[in-house]
Amino acid sequence: MEKMNLTASQAEILTAPYAGEISAQTVLNLNIPAKYAIPFTETLKDVHERGNGVVILNMAADDADAPISACLAETQADKLKAAFKAVAEAAGATECWLVKTPEINFELSGVKTVNAERSMVLREESALYHMILSGELRSAPLPKDFPSEGLQDKPTVVVDAETLVRVYAAAQPGYEETKLVAVRTPNGTKLGEFKTGTSLADIVAESGAKAEKSVLLGGLTGTFVDNTELDSCKVDTSALWDYVGIYGSKDCMAHLTEELAKRARTETCQKCVLCREGTWHFENIFNQVAAGKAKKDDLAMVEDIGPLIHIGSFCSFGQGMANVFVSSVRTNRKELELHFVKKSCPAGVCKAFSKPVIDPAKCTGCTDCLDVCDEDAITGKKKFIHIIDPDMCENCGKCAEVCEEGAIVPQDGTIRVPKKPVRCGSFS
Ligand code: SF4
Ligand code: SF4
Ligand code: SF4
Repeated sequence: MEKMNLTASQAEILTAPYAGEISAQTVLNLNIPAKYAIPFTETLKDVHERGNGVVILNMAADDADAPISACLAETQADKLKAAFKAVAEAAGATECWLVKTPEINFELSGVKTVNAERSMVLREESALYHMILSGELRSAPLPKDFPSEGLQDKPTVVVDAETLVRVYAAAQPGYEETKLVAVRTPNGTKLGEFKTGTSLADIVAESGAKAEKSVLLGGLTGTFVDNTELDSCKVDTSALWDYVGIYGSKDCMAHLTEELAKRARTETCQKCVLCREGTWHFENIFNQVAAGKAKKDDLAMVEDIGPLIHIGSFCSFGQGMANVFVSSVRTNRKELELHFVKKSCPAGVCKAFSKPVIDPAKCTGCTDCLDVCDEDAITGKKKFIHIIDPDMCENCGKCAEVCEEGAIVPQDGTIRVPKKPVRCGSFS
């Protein structure tokens, strides 16, 4: 993915200059909301009272499409360090850990570092502890009691990079609560900063892109929302708002959902049956949808098993992942069905339907494409509109490369072609 730009859109707290140290007492007086499930301020106060705490900075649990930790490590290192020091002092920490991905170039002096593969499963405390102690991805969710068991039963505060920068920002005068959101549009992805309470409709408007399809809120463990819901979705500080995906007519929702299903399959820690088997079913079903081979019952199956997986999964990864596929069926049903009912990909993305076609309005009958086709799939002669036999075409793309007229394009269901070569200009 391209490196994202930090573009402050409404508030500018995070981009304000670094203003030096903050005290432990200041941090204890703040009220900072959690990003993942673990309450931050309550946990910090509890650990402060018990003493001898452990503080863990978790920079390895981002969504692949919203690398907020990496961006903050690069742009806000001073603030992260100042806030971490204050949090560690407030916790009376005797042990500190940094869990990050090898790509993140960041260190905290005197703090033990664990380099882990990025995984959203690491949002679960138990998975993070297991990673520190054994180097393996394994989640075993702890009871949701407060305070929860810490690393090896020691009082433990876990904080992510964005919450840490928020700690820094909240200690400065004039603080307004904001959230960093990776906003994906057909033109690329940018990291924006939005006041909490901003509507999803406003984020879409500010992106400059038109939401022609459902909007993906929260990435792999989020939810697809349709146009009628954009006003009622309001930014908060949770990880759900790390990512907003806005899609246009050239984006295929079947392909997107298939890609999410592939990622779910590789990110699950496979510990519990419903999440493990569920990701297998989702990958299989959406693979069949994108290939045009699914059956109508398959979408009903997603809607049937999704809620069961949501309820039966041990951790937030399995629960969120199930939601994203159920919501894709709910909001993208028409486009998904077009793939296996009409054998068509309106966006021209899915390879199964993207056999090229020669646009009769553009073909000048030069024969260049005919000469490069190893499959003899193209018929034509000088000054005649050429045609491609889709049954013979292997979709190698060579013909499109040589056509200087840009006449060879994926069939999107709208291009009519003659049944046999006819003189250029005579077909309409
Ligand atoms: S829900 Fe998935 S990721 Fe979470 S513990 Fe179960 S198998 Fe692992
Ligand atoms: S499709 Fe392009 S390369 Fe082929 S004959 Fe027509 S103009 Fe020439
Ligand atoms: S895509 Fe390849 S196989 Fe298909 S018509 Fe073009 S050159 Fe021939």
